Amino acid sequence: MRRFENTIFDEMTELATRHGAISLGQGFPDDSGPAEVLDAAVAAIGRGDNQYAPGRGLPSLREAIAEHQRSWYGLDLDPDTEVMVSAGATEAMTAAILALVEPGDEVIAFEPTYDCYDGAVTMANGVLRPVRLSAPEYRFDAARLRAAITERTRFLILNSPHNPTGHVFDDQELAELADVVIEHDLFVLTDEVYEHLVFDGHTHTPLSTLPGMADRTLTISSAGKTFSVTGWKIGWLTGPADVITAVGRTKQNMTFTNGTPFQHGVAAGLALPHERIEAIGHTFQERRDLLADGLTSLGFDVHPAQGTYFVTADIGGVLDDAGRSEWDGMEFCRRLPELVGVGAIPAQVFYADPDDPADPRVRHLVRFTCSKSARTITTGLERLAGLRDAIRRSTT
Ligand SMILES: *Cc1c(COP(=O)(O)O)cnc(C)c1O
Repeated sequence: MRRFENTIFDEMTELATRHGAISLGQGFPDDSGPAEVLDAAVAAIGRGDNQYAPGRGLPSLREAIAEHQRSWYGLDLDPDTEVMVSAGATEAMTAAILALVEPGDEVIAFEPTYDCYDGAVTMANGVLRPVRLSAPEYRFDAARLRAAITERTRFLILNSPHNPTGHVFDDQELAELADVVIEHDLFVLTDEVYEHLVFDGHTHTPLSTLPGMADRTLTISSAGKTFSVTGWKIGWLTGPADVITAVGRTKQNMTFTNGTPFQHGVAAGLALPHERIEAIGHTFQERRDLLADGLTSLGFDVHPAQGTYFVTADIGGVLDDAGRSEWDGMEFCRRLPELVGVGAIPAQVFYADPDDPADPRVRHLVRFTCSKSARTITTGLERLAGLRDAIRRSTT
């Protein structure tokens, strides 16, 4: 694990703290989720429900997850055999990868790639093969996927809505993806933690709802993003019973179980009426608009996210104006906290090779989070308004 040094999130958070910066980098809200969710966890603690939950999760939460998959997506799952609760989507993903990847197996993930997949594949002695989604549209390209498949390819990881790009795979992309998966007899792990944070009428469709995919898809999600409780770390997996059993064996040797009172809170959240959960998506859409419009008016070239907590901006024009064309996103993000008191994440950290000539914009892309309150986003934008002058004044 030597190559997994401190994460960029630790480095940028440390810089932000040192300079009293507003962090628009790491994706977590600065307000908590719905009162019903919080109250149910508090009530569970108050009545003494503070001991180990069953390894597969509280029965009431597993039922709420199965009912959620039925009422939102028409999926029919047995809460006893086809649903398992985990310590966030991260543990779900890691436990699944450790259970399913044999040494030397190849796992395909779309790039830019959320950071936890590579670590888990490496722990399983597998090899992660990135397949590029190109800026600024980030649409899936079946030919690129086919070219990356070898006889060692075991499965692929699909994250949609996609972090960091905000791309939501549409029905055509999903159908083409399913064709390739079936043709090559692959298995898929999906990361759907932003399933309810989709904007502008885009819809999230779980890959497992496509014909022939239910038996070859393990669906992973989490409460953290939907209910603004990222510190709770309650996630889940749904899929074929034999795969859930296999993943249970690794999970049992990782955390075994976690967060009993929080599991009660999440069960209450999943049972909220659809309108309430859709309203959460609308709130994040308003925040996305505030951030994307603000960055655009400051001269950034913003690609509007279709979902998630994030907006990606091309900083090339702003750097040219400020006479610092030689900076890239990493240099920009390292200086931003001191220059104007804002934190952000360079998109290049989500790429194995940020200098691929097929995708020349990567080093100029920066990820900002729109998960913060309107007040925080507004303050961040006010600070960024002074950016060009601050860059020009900076001497080194
Ligand atoms: C935040 C995030 C996760 C982690 O979810 P947890 O439930 O906090 O473990 C997983 N995948 C993506 C794409 C994320 O953005």
